Amino acid sequence: DNLSVHFALKRKGMFGAKSVLKAVDDVSFSVGRGETLAIVGESGSGKTTAALAVAQLVNAAGGSVKLDGEDVLGVQGDALRAMRERVQFIFQDPYSSLNPRRRAEDLVREPLDSLTDKTKAEKQQIVDELFAAVGLRKEQQRLFPHQFSGGQRQRIGIARALATRPEVIICDEPVSALDVAVQAQILNLLRRLQTEFGLTFLFISHDLGVVQHVSDRIAVMYMGRVVELADRLSLFNSPRHPYTKALLSAVPAVSRKDRAARQRILIPGDPPDPVNLPAGCRFASRCPHVMPICKEQEPMMQNVGTDHLTACHLTEQEEAAV
Ligand code: SF4
Repeated sequence: DNLSVHFALKRKGMFGAKSVLKAVDDVSFSVGRGETLAIVGESGSGKTTAALAVAQLVNAAGGSVKLDGEDVLGVQGDALRAMRERVQFIFQDPYSSLNPRRRAEDLVREPLDSLTDKTKAEKQQIVDELFAAVGLRKEQQRLFPHQFSGGQRQRIGIARALATRPEVIICDEPVSALDVAVQAQILNLLRRLQTEFGLTFLFISHDLGVVQHVSDRIAVMYMGRVVELADRLSLFNSPRHPYTKALLSAVPAVSRKDRAARQRILIPGDPPDPVNLPAGCRFASRCPHVMPICKEQEPMMQNVGTDHLTACHLTEQEEAAV
């Protein structure tokens, strides 16, 4: 709720004041047990920073992160350890997120060593089960990361994230470093494991094409803000924010009918300077529907359908015209 992450920059702003980058600016979303919420946006939208803040891997400047109703933002010591057992992370790049000098079995066992009091035998049993669950063979446990393919390395990353039997897994672009054929295998694996282990996913991606296969609900972020939040079907069938419409127009259509109906919308111009954000809507400099009010007043999130929220003055005007 109202999560913000600010970074102080070396560059000075007006009148020599310290510049602050509001990477995540007053963002709210929720994810239900067993559900997948995807957070989508271009690079620089704040999606990964928001996820890192939820996992307490960067410090938040404000807001709260509630797990089963209990605020876990800023907890320390044993409470942080307990939180980490429940919330784990799968990183984007399996090439750099695994220590190349450690064997696969050690990498998967590491969270059990640091977060639990399990015996050696118990840990080995969990490692054996997880290797089987992610489709790796027992004899591969002694190998080092460079002896695996990219997809297999991501399977090690997934097994490692599952080691403490977490309830929530934050998947940060888990397939974007992989070939398309391998992407499908990993997405299918994640879906199967979600059911098997009763997992809740926060799925970060720049690619709506990937997200459409895994998400229940989708939050679209632009310049540190959530601009649209809806269930997958509503977002794909009736997007309301001009930025979401442009993102969707770039998703390859599967059927000929969809291909004919879908026209590519190009987003002109560049995003504003994130350190000196303009008044009003942050998308105004690139929006084909910009109106005078857009440059004066920042649009707030409002309901435009059942559990469908968007932050755009255009929708207010559309509603008023009905
Ligand atoms: Fe475009 Fe205005 Fe909506 Fe912003 S508020 S997306 S500028 S129509």
